Amino acid sequence: MEDKTKKYILPENEIPSKWYNINPDLPKPMAPPCNPQTGKPLTPEELEVIFPRSIIEQEISMQNYIDIPPELIDIYRMWRPTPLVRAERLEQMLDTPAKIFFKNESVSPAGSHKPNTAVAQAYYNKKDGTGRLTTETGAGQWGCALSFAGALIGIPVTVYMVKVSYEQKPYRKMMMHAYGGKVHPSPSKLTDAGRAMLAQDPDCPGSLGLAISEAVEEAVKSGGEAKYSLGSVLNHVILHQTIVGLETKNQFEKMGITPDILIGCVGGGSNFGGFVFPFIPEKIKGKNIRMIAVEPASCPTLTKGEFTFDYGDTAKMAPIVQMYTLGHDFMPPSIHAGGLRYHGMAPQVSMLYHEGLIEAVAYPQNPCFEAAMMFAKAEGIIPAPESSHAIKCAIDEALKCRKTGEKKVIAFNLSGHGHFDMTAYEKYMEGKLTDYEYPKELIKESLKKLPKVDI
Ligand SMILES: *Cc1c(COP(=O)(O)O)cnc(C)c1O
Repeated sequence: MEDKTKKYILPENEIPSKWYNINPDLPKPMAPPCNPQTGKPLTPEELEVIFPRSIIEQEISMQNYIDIPPELIDIYRMWRPTPLVRAERLEQMLDTPAKIFFKNESVSPAGSHKPNTAVAQAYYNKKDGTGRLTTETGAGQWGCALSFAGALIGIPVTVYMVKVSYEQKPYRKMMMHAYGGKVHPSPSKLTDAGRAMLAQDPDCPGSLGLAISEAVEEAVKSGGEAKYSLGSVLNHVILHQTIVGLETKNQFEKMGITPDILIGCVGGGSNFGGFVFPFIPEKIKGKNIRMIAVEPASCPTLTKGEFTFDYGDTAKMAPIVQMYTLGHDFMPPSIHAGGLRYHGMAPQVSMLYHEGLIEAVAYPQNPCFEAAMMFAKAEGIIPAPESSHAIKCAIDEALKCRKTGEKKVIAFNLSGHGHFDMTAYEKYMEGKLTDYEYPKELIKESLKKLPKVDI
């Protein structure tokens, strides 16, 4: 019989027509996001200063499925549906009876899962009359995705890029320029937050928290012309990313296979959430399926953080939400998976972990790069350092099957490729990458500064 399990590419007309919204299926209702100044629940009017109305509606929606507009499906067609690939050569290399699959999100024009939400956010902003989008970027992946989306939808994009990355990773910056994005190194002289920091320390290398503050400030001060856009963490971002898991579910059904373990790396939680959330309803009904979130040992939000209320950013301008956090001013050691260095975790992912529906593990960066190199040699794709965390976990689970003889079906989300991260690979190959210990003292200090909420 013909083996249909090698690779499953859905036909173009099978791009999902709706996103999956997990809110109504969560075991407990979510705590409301709170105003960072007053600690009181935010009103939709307050949120409208930085987000357009249709995005806020999605953020708080209790509808189980939300229609994807046909214009957006037309854009998704540029890279979707993405392939679900059997990593047979990796299985052979590991000599495992397990079947390993990966969902390949690296095939998008910007090279990661991020355009799935970038084009949706640009679309709804344009529809609601936003004149311009502001955002921040750390390593540059989100800035590229939103600049790409802005070019397609016809909305200008301004990106505040953390200054060290701006200087050390010029190719991501050039890619944003190629899409027509405007890029400022952060701290910049364009905002109060940036100027205040430069007055204190003219050589400040910048941070993601500060770049968020600058982007939010620009939107707030524009008098409604510009709105702010975030690439992870929030409910509407994961909603858009569920297109990944919905396709995966369909692909497995077409192959007649049920996955036993689903794995994704977590920074803010959007690629993991998008990949696994569509499988949560059956998990709640008692189906035996494990879902594992993989984080860096240097920024262990789920495995070592606290489930509490905290600010979304360092400068305390973003809403306070209930989530796992290491403290809003926790500065994770500099690792090469820049996209995983966030102090918090998506509230929806946090809730599922707190309720025991998903698992989490943390790995240091060297073993992740080792796994990435194995994957590259076996399957030909050089993964993003972020994605290598998911690969490491998939390999570990496959090796457990080698011991027990179990033929488990393991699937991971390949969130992006690493073509702009070759310096990190070079450092790994030269043996110059450091594995940071879990910074217990730093986290303890940072967790002393949690805000009070009034709900
Ligand atoms: C941004 C990014 C991540 C981390 O963000 P999540 O919101 O946790 O998905 C992971 N992988 C890649 C390739 C990224 O660009």
